[in-house]
Amino acid sequence: MSDLFFKPKNIYETASDELTTAIYAYAEGYKAFLSAGRTERESVAEAVTLAKSKGFWEYVPGEKVKPGDRIYFVNAGKSITLAVIGSRSLREGINIAAAHVDAPRLDLKANPLYEDSELAYLKTHYYGGIKKYQWHNIPLELRGVVVKADGSSQKVSIGSDPGDPQFVITDILPHLGDSQLNKTVRDAFPGEGLNILIGSRPNSGDKDEKELVKYGVMKLINEKYGIIEEDFLSAEIEVVPAHEVRDIGFDRSMVGGYGHDDRVCGYAALTAILDLEGIPDKTAVALLVDKEEIGSEGVAGMQSRAFERFIGSLTRSQGVSIDDCFAESLCLSTDVCNAFDPNFAEVSDKRNNAKVNYGVALMKHTGSRGKSGSNDASAETIGKFRKLFAEHSVAWQMGELGKVDAGGGGTVAMFMSRRNIETIDAGVPVLSMHAPFEVIAKSDLYMTYKAISALYSYK
Ligand code: MN
Ligand code: MN
Repeated sequence: MSDLFFKPKNIYETASDELTTAIYAYAEGYKAFLSAGRTERESVAEAVTLAKSKGFWEYVPGEKVKPGDRIYFVNAGKSITLAVIGSRSLREGINIAAAHVDAPRLDLKANPLYEDSELAYLKTHYYGGIKKYQWHNIPLELRGVVVKADGSSQKVSIGSDPGDPQFVITDILPHLGDSQLNKTVRDAFPGEGLNILIGSRPNSGDKDEKELVKYGVMKLINEKYGIIEEDFLSAEIEVVPAHEVRDIGFDRSMVGGYGHDDRVCGYAALTAILDLEGIPDKTAVALLVDKEEIGSEGVAGMQSRAFERFIGSLTRSQGVSIDDCFAESLCLSTDVCNAFDPNFAEVSDKRNNAKVNYGVALMKHTGSRGKSGSNDASAETIGKFRKLFAEHSVAWQMGELGKVDAGGGGTVAMFMSRRNIETIDAGVPVLSMHAPFEVIAKSDLYMTYKAISALYSYK
């Protein structure tokens, strides 16, 4: 047949045994990374541990660096920038992979604890785009940090150790679900209903207290963490799914877990830079940032000038303007996209949607309602990566976030291109994106790693 027609291929159609082995082996490291990091803070801490083991050292802006130096910079404990300094001047640009490590979840409110009908609860406010019904009836754990009145900080992590209790948001039994089933899904599961059940046994040790279940729970929290109710005011406690990261399918070709979006690309970017050997031509940079799911705001988000502080410190040390550096730079905004789901085919254009096992998915644009709020990469940028990926045997495909006007979304890409950095979205296609348990294919993860490694060799 002629080469005139474009025929995308499933990776396993042509994969050698060596490639398949490499794909499966690489996923094991990712599973460990995803298990260890259930919040952005934990993912950053895990990244630091891995970076140190690969010879990276903590950079203080203002310090001098030389080609081959392997450095990292943690911002507010919630984002990390890693770099391997290249042999060429920063005037010639840098190669950047930018992922995010925050994920949709429930956050505790400032005054979360209450008792109702002799049951104790924590109130939450959801973070990022969730379908609220998915958070009922699944095991949950609490992770985060509490800053006490004396300024000291206490880490909280409960639910993941085998002996730990877990938590849950209840739902109406089907026997009594008639009126609920007649509502729209949006109305049936209100945000104020996302209250976590945390206790039921009254503590009658103190007869003067009125709310004895709440008292009992608070007493246990105090014994374990030394905190009092008022300490919730200065706390960031995230409620995350408690289920384990597991292989999915008889062929174990997929991974199920919480937070693939976007720790999966975070891991690919992290390992691609950690695995860089010697001195790259251009400086390689990997970013794991926070707050993407709520618009990349905040000091640890991609809109923050913390990025300029880091890169600016490097460019100043070479007498280069940061704007000149950015103008010559190339960025993969490594974030996940939706994988075509035959169960819900109606939301996707089958010809243009990314597919599981077809490789890293480039997204020319994201956005909604006519590409609004999107980076919309140019033909030249796509062409650049097309050539680069062919040279490095990277299996890739073009994706699109659903049918025209089906909805939409964004990534950090537009905040990079706003800096005048040539940018395109690229990442792992996900099934059940933003659900408490998402699914990705190991082959797509591996190809994302290879894509970022190829970017780091771009001259
Ligand atoms: Mn994302
Ligand atoms: Mn997302």
